[in-house]
Amino acid sequence: MKRRIVLLGPPASGKGTQAALIEDRLGIPTVSTGEALRNEKAAGTKLGEEADRYTSQGRLVPDSIAIQVVGRWLEHHGHEFVFDGFPRSISQAEGLAALLCADSQSLDVVCFLRTSEETIQRRVLNRMVCESCGRTVSVGLHVERASSPCPSCRASLVRRSDDTLETLARRMEEYRTKTEPLIDYYRGRGLLETVDSEETPEVVFEEISQILEVV
Ligand code: AMP
Repeated sequence: MKRRIVLLGPPASGKGTQAALIEDRLGIPTVSTGEALRNEKAAGTKLGEEADRYTSQGRLVPDSIAIQVVGRWLEHHGHEFVFDGFPRSISQAEGLAALLCADSQSLDVVCFLRTSEETIQRRVLNRMVCESCGRTVSVGLHVERASSPCPSCRASLVRRSDDTLETLARRMEEYRTKTEPLIDYYRGRGLLETVDSEETPEVVFEEISQILEVV
């Protein structure tokens, strides 16, 4: 089974949802750079404050920050991982290859979650995050209303500060210019698999399971 995995895709393509399913059902640990940065911000660290200057405007944080977050995570974890939202640029991909190579590792697969702009917009506008346990839910799918409590822990749901149409436009621009080139980069290395992420989380997970050669 493939156990060193990158999930690649535009904002709200379902990377976090699929990473959580892979972690829960296949036991492969996940690292989300976006979530790690939000946690740093919530903890009031210098790194979190610096990252927020970019994130709140829909911009990618500098490559050095993202690589630092992942490097730290890799130091404390084993040789299996799902990266949700990393790498997001060619230079991050090169940074990742160097980190893995230093540990005699390499990637097994990159799953590209193809999603239409219409779906991205709808998902961003429906997305809420639990302010206590951090679970991400979708209004209409997991909860009835934005004012509903978190289905996992009953705490309040809040909107991510970067989930506005204005910020999404910037995030999409960053995605197109910096992240999309990774599709060809990984295709050229024989690692890319494309998944139709318009489907429900269960259907997408089924497709990913086949790619990962889950037996
Ligand atoms: P996400 O939770 O994956 O949607 O990420 C939220 C935000 O965190 C992004 O819009 C970026 O500002 C920042 N971010 C997350 N991952 C990265 C990364 N690999 N490189 C640069 N910025 C990132």
